[in-house]
Formats: sequence, C-alpha cells, structure tokens
Amino acid sequence: MPGTNLTREEARTRAKLLTVDSYEIDLDLSGAQEGGTYRSVTTVRFDVAESGADSFIDLVAPAVHEVTLNGDTLDAAEVFADSRIALRGLLEGRNVLRVVADCAYTNTGEGLHRFVDPVDDQAYLYTQFEVPDARRVFASFEQPDLKATFQFTVRAPEGWTVISNSPTPEPGTVNDNLWVFEPTPRISTYITALIVGPYHSVHSVYEKDGRTVPLGIYCRPSLAEFLDADAIFDVTRQGFDWFQEKFDYAYPFKKYDQLFVPEFNAGAMENAGAVTFRDQYVFRSKVTDASYEARAATILHELAHMWFGDLVTMEWWNDLWLNESFATYAEAACLAHAPGTKWPQSWTTFANQMKTWAYRQDQLPSTHPIMAEINDLEDVLVNFDGITYAKGASVLKQLVAYVGMDEFFRGVQAYFKRHAYGNTRLSDLLGALEETSGRDLRTWSKKWLQTAGINILRPEIEADAEGVITSFGVRQEAPALPAGAKGEAVLRPHRIAIGLYDVDESTGKLVRAEDGRIELDVDGELTAVPQLVGRRRPAVVLLNDDDLSYAKVRLDEESLAFVTEHLGDFEWSLPRALCWASAWDMTRDGELAARDYLSLVLSGIGKESDIGVVQSLHRQVKLAVDLYADPGAREALLTRWTDATLAHLRSAEAGSDHQLAWARAFAATARTPEQLDLLEALLDGSQTVEGLTVDTELRWAFVERLAAVGRFDENEIAGEYERDRTAAGERHAASARAARPTEEAKAEAWASVVESDKLPNAVQEAVIAGFVQTDQRELLAPYVDRYFAAVEDVWESRSYEMAQQVVVGLYPSVHVTKETLEKTDAWLASAGPNAALRRLMSEARAGVERALRAQEVDAGAGR
Ligand SMILES: [Zn+2]
Repeated sequence: MPGTNLTREEARTRAKLLTVDSYEIDLDLSGAQEGGTYRSVTTVRFDVAESGADSFIDLVAPAVHEVTLNGDTLDAAEVFADSRIALRGLLEGRNVLRVVADCAYTNTGEGLHRFVDPVDDQAYLYTQFEVPDARRVFASFEQPDLKATFQFTVRAPEGWTVISNSPTPEPGTVNDNLWVFEPTPRISTYITALIVGPYHSVHSVYEKDGRTVPLGIYCRPSLAEFLDADAIFDVTRQGFDWFQEKFDYAYPFKKYDQLFVPEFNAGAMENAGAVTFRDQYVFRSKVTDASYEARAATILHELAHMWFGDLVTMEWWNDLWLNESFATYAEAACLAHAPGTKWPQSWTTFANQMKTWAYRQDQLPSTHPIMAEINDLEDVLVNFDGITYAKGASVLKQLVAYVGMDEFFRGVQAYFKRHAYGNTRLSDLLGALEETSGRDLRTWSKKWLQTAGINILRPEIEADAEGVITSFGVRQEAPALPAGAKGEAVLRPHRIAIGLYDVDESTGKLVRAEDGRIELDVDGELTAVPQLVGRRRPAVVLLNDDDLSYAKVRLDEESLAFVTEHLGDFEWSLPRALCWASAWDMTRDGELAARDYLSLVLSGIGKESDIGVVQSLHRQVKLAVDLYADPGAREALLTRWTDATLAHLRSAEAGSDHQLAWARAFAATARTPEQLDLLEALLDGSQTVEGLTVDTELRWAFVERLAAVGRFDENEIAGEYERDRTAAGERHAASARAARPTEEAKAEAWASVVESDKLPNAVQEAVIAGFVQTDQRELLAPYVDRYFAAVEDVWESRSYEMAQQVVVGLYPSVHVTKETLEKTDAWLASAGPNAALRRLMSEARAGVERALRAQEVDAGAGR
C-alpha cells in the first residue's frame, strides 16, 4: 500500500508545529442509495508555531476540487499527491484550510462503508476510522495527538437517520434532510463517527446522581425482531455504575449510542458516544450463554474506552497496547465484580480465551515486547494482536495483584483527572500508580513491558514416606525466544497463588481447603516455599492458582496423573480452566501427543459445566486431530471424536446450551453415511433430537457440512437461501458453495477472492472460510503454488483489511509438510521488503512448523 503511510517522526514533527482547533465537515450523502462517491467539504482551523513553515494534511479521495489555504486558492493537481495535501508557507498563529473533494463509499469496512440489505434493498452506512481512515471521509490531520472539535453537517436521503458523536438533532430541527450536529469535545480523529441509514432504534436513559445520559441502540430493521435491547441496556447500565465509581469520573460525553452495523471487520469500535458493533451480536438464532457473555464483555470493553482512550488518549500508536489492555482488563474485572453481574465466572473465560491467545502469540517468531516499537502506520495495523490485547491485559491483571485493586484504581482516577481531553504516554499512568501504591514500578515495567516471551513455572516437591512435604520450590524457566524474534529471554518477578486441592469425600469434588491457598512473590530461577513444608501432600498442587500471573504452568508428575483422571472433578471452573489450558499448551509444545489430548478431553469434558470452556475444547480437539495428529492415525481419531460428539449430542440435557454446542461440534465433523443421513434428517424434520431446535443458523451449519462432503449442491444451497434471504443467508450460501468438494467450486471461489476485488469484506471472508476444508487436502493442493505466486500482488493492490484476510486465510496451513515450509522460505527469501506482509507469512509458517513437530510426537506415541 504505497503512498498511504505515515511515520512516527512525521507525526512528531507535525504535532510540534500544529495545534488544531476545529473541523467543520459537510458531507452530501444524498446519493448514498446509489453509491459511488460523495462530496466532502472540510474547513479546518489550526494554529502554527512558526511563520513560513510547511506541513500537510491527510486525505484519501478519488478527486480533490478545491484547496483554499488562508484565502488563497491552491492548485489541487499540484498540492494533492500520495494521500496528502501539501500545506506550504503557513502563517504563524491561526490558519484556515478549506478542502472540497469527492470521497468514495467503500465495501471493505474501512472509511465510510456502504452496505445494501437484501431484505429491504436499502443502503446502510457507517464509518470505521481506526487506525488511519478518517482521511477517507474528510481532510484530517490523522494522528491521535492532534485533537480538535468536530462539527458534522450531513445531507442524507429522505426518511433516514444520522447518528454521530454529538447528540442527534431533533427531527423538527432537520430541514431539507440536512442534519447539523453540535461540535464534539476535543477528541482524536480516529474516534469520530457517522452512522447513516434507515436504521431501527430503541431508546432509554441512564440516571445517576441527578444526571441523565440518553442511551440508544440501533440495528437494521431486518434484525429488529431479534434485538434484545433490555439485556443490552442492563449490561450497559451496570458498566456505567461500576466504571463511574471505579474511575471516579462522570461519563464524559453527552449521550451513549450503541449501533449494530453490517459487515463490520472487528468486534466493535469505541467511537466517542457512538459505539459500533458487528451485528452478528444481534442473535438471529439460539446461541449459548458464552455468546451473551462475549457480547457483554465487548459492550463493557467499549464503554471503558470512553474514559481510557477517548477522554485520555495515547500520544502515538506505540501505546495502543495500553489502550486495548486496559479496556480488556476492565471488561473482565467489571463482569467479575460488578454488583448483579450475570457472569461472576468471567476470570475463567479470561483464562480460557485471553491467556490462550496471548500464550500462542507470544511463541510466534513475530513476538515482541508489550511496548512495541511502532515506527509507522503499517507497524500498528499488524499489531492489533494477542500481545497488544491479551498479554497486555494479563500483565495488568498481574500488576493489580502486585499493587492491589484499590490502589490501582486510585492511580487510574488521578490519571483521568490530570489528563482529561489530553494525550499521554505510559509513564503518565505508571507515575500515577507509583504515587497511589508506593511501589517502584521501574523494574516491573522493564521486565514485563519491555521484554518479549513467556516464563514456565514448575513445582519441585519432595515428600517423605508418609506423604508429608519435606521441600517445596517453584522453578522458573525462560525458554529461548522463537527463531527470528528479537531480544533475550528473561526471568521475571511473579505474584502468584499456590492452591492445594483434595477430594471432598462427601461430594467427590476436588476442592481447595480453606488454608489451601498461599500467595507469594516468585523471582529468579528457584523460589523456596517453606510455608508448605511439613504439610501433607495434596492430590493436586496448582501453581498460579487464581490465574494472577502470566506464565505457562506445569503440574508435578503426581498432580498430572491425578488431573488426567479427574480434571472434570474440580468444583470451581477456574482451576479446571487452568488445567485444561496447561494440557492444551503441552499438546502444542509436543509434550502431550494429540491422541492423548483427545483422550484427556473425552475423559473430562462431560463434567465441564462452563459452556465457553466446552466450546474452546471443541475447537482445540478439532485442531489437534486435523493438524497435530499423525496423518496415519488421523482418520481413526476423527472417527473417535465424531462418535463422541454424537453421543454427547444425544445425552445432553434437552434444550441446554451444551446440547446446542455438541450439535455444532457434530455438524463440523460428521463423516459416515449414517451421520450425514442424520444431518439431512434433522434438516428435513424426519428425525429430531429432543429439545434441539434446528433454527436458521444451525440449519446453515448442517447445510455447509453437507455441501463440503458433496451431499448438497447448488440446488440445496439455493433452496436454503430462499428460506433465509438475508445478508447472513448470502454469506452462508457463499461459504457453502466454496466448500463443495469439486475442482469447479474451488476454482470459482479462488477466482472471486484472489483474481477479483469486487466482493465486500464479509462475503470474501465467508468464501475463504468455505474454501479451506481440512478434509480436502488433495483438492486444495494445486493452490499452494498459486498462493505464493499471487500473495504479493494481493497485498499491494488491496486495502489492509481485505489483503490480510487473503494472506492469512488462504495460507496453505492444512498442508502440514516440509514442502510448505520450504515454499514459504523461498517466498520469504525472494519477496519484497514489506515488513507487515512478511510478519503475517512468518506467523503462518510457524503454525506449520509447530504442527509438524506435534505430528512426530503423536506418531511416536502410536508406536
Ligand atoms: Zn478496544
């Protein structure tokens, strides 16, 4: 993507020179129903520190018609190039710039996205600006530390609604369909927003201490019947209560709208007072409680950003991690601790999902310190990763254990008061935390934030013949960083708990005795734990109990043997999740054969009550069997797994979340003629499973599987679409078509994604998901070479979101062979220097390398 980059140096220079006062932005979206381009008129007022200085403003637009700087008309053809407008000979003090351009609607989820709903043929628009895409809609100084006020004026088609950061004008004040918003407070460009279209809405208020904040929820009318607004308002109000108290700072904007929008690339976006969410969060069919919890977490994450990110904003993208880690920590903490929460077990979900993501990312060759070096926009785009969100949040959880939660939030309170509407660096937050906690955080910050990699903690336990502990230590290791990663592996200070678990004879459950938990600081290679000497050795010793620190944990031999038989017996979900995570990590590291992991899961999953954990185990088992098992044993393991999914489907409680999850797991892997017959029979209603509703989304899961194995073809897929003529139906149909096991279907899917750039983001994603089927390796083999031949062109010619879908999604990761590694190496050796693309390729390569190692281990276990 040449010509759209911006370096940190350029941003620094510009911030030194400019102070931006205000933007007035006039957009004529009256032709939005037809698409194409729209007129964008921007007037920016800004102050300049130095007379005669040169600078530039950012704009990505098909045409620039007028540029007027301080009353002088500039030659647009001369000053507009490489997505910038050159501003030369600026005046000291106030300058006024006016830019008239034609900007383009997009279908990539970047800039101003335009989508037409097949249900009503109406267009629905929304903006998505993070990281550098406000410049696709108006001329902007596109960097987070040039805050300003923004005043939007929008002309929209008759009967539409326009929502932005400022309160929506009353209908009576909207003349000639011209929506004039009041200016925003001083905010960054990347959190400004417009959502435009004939959206459906529901309204309420949040009231506290005499102050009222209007709340709104929006979605397309075709989703309105599924919108459970009350549940969304409930979580939102809990978040307002908890965050206002913990942050000791009133919600900083005038209203809070949450908009569920189509074809959204991420989960959600924290636009000030106008948060956008992917509209898959409006559930059209039955979903498990894990989906409601995930949606609540996302709601709280974005709400936390209103303070952390929007009110106080990072100076530059190198502190993106702090922004995202804080919101991720805050979402889990609020779910776990807010009065009346429905998800008090959310630290289990955090361990199950965030930690797993972080551990995986931290063992890739691209791993980096949490405080990453972000030299330009391309660096930041690939850095929305498991380090930035999940490891950062895990390390904040560790920091809270280290300084105490009250002290932590007192520091945060001081930070908000001191820096409201301003920009900060990490040191500003650490300074505030040092003041409130009295702890010196320099060493902590150096060890945890400025180094990459992960530690392993192992217990070293000796006991006498009576089973009394005679010595206890915690050994810490710092495994070498993956080849290609920069930096050195280091040992770190860890605040951890150690849990001692025994079977309660009356219930048969594994429980922690009241005095069965100690908390301590672990540092260096070996930390002695004299507190445990003299105690009877329990059935299970669990390091990092309560999941306070960020480390891979191993069980001692006796505990491992016990857990292998009794993992499902833990009374609490968190220690179960930690043991499941340890087993998965051992499988990924080749310490546990894929077949043994399958056995372990099958022995304990029936007792796992946490539905989110069950669903993760489903994904992990499938991945282990497909990619980590010895290819010679794969079919037998798949049979074993599929039979188990069917048995669980039949035995699960009627109508339960577990039943639905097992139905989906079964559909993902059904293989024998009888199993496929059952899928067909469940679809046509000739067979039923008591309590299981085969609703719209579950039907598609069955249809997609039947298409992938060649039972269903165009007729059946088109027939299913007739039942569900919606955007979601279109995506499922596209996925099912691409999944068919024929050369023609694969060629068609490939051409639509790789050789054409016409598909909208969400449809392209669906086609890619259908194209890649783990049991179609032979059919996909010819595409390995074609992938390496095409990938650089795709990268150069597409927007970031679209290109990375193709690069990551079509990488031949199902071909776990030395040839795949060699071909990747050959590509890396010959390809151009684009760092972001090379990073994605080396991450994909690492997955194949890991799978090859795991396959050898599994083959060894079979001998
Ligand atoms: Zn976020």
